[in-house]
Amino acid sequence: MMRRNQRHRAFDPDPAAPDRTCDMPGCPERAGYRAPRSRDTLNDYFWFCLEHVRGYNARWDFYKGMTPGQIEAHLRADVSWNRPSWRLGSLGSHHALDEEQVLDPLGLLRGTGDARIKRKRPGAADSRPEALRQPLDTLGLGWPVSLAEVKSRYKDLARRHHPDANGGDRAAEERLKTINVAYTALRAHLDAARHNDLAETG
Ligand SMILES: [Zn+2]
Repeated sequence: MMRRNQRHRAFDPDPAAPDRTCDMPGCPERAGYRAPRSRDTLNDYFWFCLEHVRGYNARWDFYKGMTPGQIEAHLRADVSWNRPSWRLGSLGSHHALDEEQVLDPLGLLRGTGDARIKRKRPGAADSRPEALRQPLDTLGLGWPVSLAEVKSRYKDLARRHHPDANGGDRAAEERLKTINVAYTALRAHLDAARHNDLAETG
């Protein structure tokens, strides 16, 4: 019988992993690592190899607000994944592979700044205008938010996700489109709100 006195290391494959290959389209590696399909289906997993679970986790912020179907479409569009094209979060640090980060790479357990956990707190209703929820999630913004904050976040994301900054990557182009749509929606809402205020007070 195998001795089980060794601590399960975070980057060891999950013992519960199914016997199949990585969910990343075209990847022949054995799937050993799970990742939730979306913030709304945290018990429903993709199964990836180590490289691809790390890539997926690094993109978690970007997948915010997307449905599992939209995420899968992005996986298929974004098949390279070999050259991380934007902020790799904490996994991009020089701490090689920090076990703690891998154990809770998405910060779901810590819950720090995670919009979903905040929203799920009992009694805390989502006060955000319904039409703005996805745009806010896409840009990673809270609510209420000022036009200045929206502009500043947009500038930052647009710079990071710009195809020119990502070797002309088509997936980056798609991300930038999503970011632009979110920004346009938020700016339109905040502009309109500001004009209403001026009309009321003036
Ligand atoms: Zn893989």
